[in-house]
Amino acid sequence: MTTDITIIGAGLGGLALARVLHVHGIPATIYEAEPSPTARTQGGMLDIHDYNGQPALKAAGLFDAFLGLVHEGGQASRVLDKDATVLRDEPDDGTGGRPEVHRGELRRILLDSLPAGTIQWGRKATGIRPLGGGRHEVTFADGTTVTTGLLVGADGAWSRVRPLLSDAQPEYVGISFIETYLSDADTRHPASARAVGDGALFALAPGKGILAHREPGAVLHTYVALAKPQEWLAGIDFGRADEATARVAAEFDGWAPELTALITDGDTAPVPRAVNALPIGHRWDRVPGVTLLGDAAHLMSPFAGEGANLALYDGAELGNAIAAHPDDIEAALTAYEEALFPRSADAAAEAARNHELCFDDDAPHSFIALFTAHEQAG
Ligand SMILES: Cc1cc2nc3c(=O)[nH]c(=O)nc-3n(C[C@H](O)[C@H](O)[C@H](O)COP(=O)(O)OP(=O)(O)OC[C@H]3O[C@@H](n4cnc5c(N)ncnc54)[C@H](O)[C@@H]3O)c2cc1C
Repeated sequence: MTTDITIIGAGLGGLALARVLHVHGIPATIYEAEPSPTARTQGGMLDIHDYNGQPALKAAGLFDAFLGLVHEGGQASRVLDKDATVLRDEPDDGTGGRPEVHRGELRRILLDSLPAGTIQWGRKATGIRPLGGGRHEVTFADGTTVTTGLLVGADGAWSRVRPLLSDAQPEYVGISFIETYLSDADTRHPASARAVGDGALFALAPGKGILAHREPGAVLHTYVALAKPQEWLAGIDFGRADEATARVAAEFDGWAPELTALITDGDTAPVPRAVNALPIGHRWDRVPGVTLLGDAAHLMSPFAGEGANLALYDGAELGNAIAAHPDDIEAALTAYEEALFPRSADAAAEAARNHELCFDDDAPHSFIALFTAHEQAG
């Protein structure tokens, strides 16, 4: 391997790439904007799919470590209406192909699997200059620079690397999330804990929903979802937590109290998250010495639960492609991107379709029909 490899971003995708390269004996350096591995809590449960996230972890040699993290019972899911009537209840019988793990724990096994010094923390890429011949110079916020023969943008939704390849920008998809946490829920919020059950809860109505997950340690983690213009979310002062909570809760007037408590009884201030996506089918022409993976390549609506899985898979696939063509980076990037583009387009289209169905005029019944269709498809 004669090319030096620079990865921007230590999310799941960048970490998977560095790890698979390491398994093949190929060194790489990750430059990450955050100052340390613990700078930000990595909340949320991720279901890791047997057709993308899991094969990626196998390629990384971390599948057994991953199995040790699985949240037993976490694949359970249920769909409720606004009165908390359970319309569909799917317990976790251990046979599903989507075991649940905590994002922070999954990230930790990837971090721990890399040689010391692989990740340069506190190095935010601020500028990138093509030098010709496939080489690039990256400038960081601290004023330092590196030059590299292969630059990989694993830097998420607002990638600094992407403009080298494409003019596309993420756009708001019409759904705003407000994130809340209830802790010690079995004791302090037993009605809500019972409503959520062991895994995921989808309480849906036209244009709105409460999506909650039980996390290890009896934590209920909720995304309140509202189909609103972006200005609506921007117009709420989330610095005034009580007022913000009241504004959000007002949208759920008349809903069952065990559901609205997931909004009003949060232990932490509610956090707004506008949902953005790149155009479905986003792609680019081959540019020597640079590529993208994960959200940087195909940020999509989260309603297919694919983003983190695809980031892991992209990272593993790119690592394998480089290992298969150690002396010909362009051949590796061509092979990787030829598979990446259709894979991402399919997942993004599914995510967009799912999110329409979650909140359409027939919600929650259209969402239940989607589950049923998936089952019949096999
Ligand atoms: C609300 C919500 C719920 C979701 N739920 C799920 C789910 O259930 N299942 C699922 O599969 N996916 C889910 N996703 C999607 C998933 O979180 C992402 O697709 C995934 O994290 C993408 O990983 P990544 O490595 O590409 O990017 P990221 O995780 O965004 O990592 C990018 C990294 O790059 C760093 N960075 C950014 N800019 C720079 C820079 N200029 N210089 C240096 N470093 C930089 C960032 O600090 C970050 O560490 C969800 C997303 C959202 C918003």
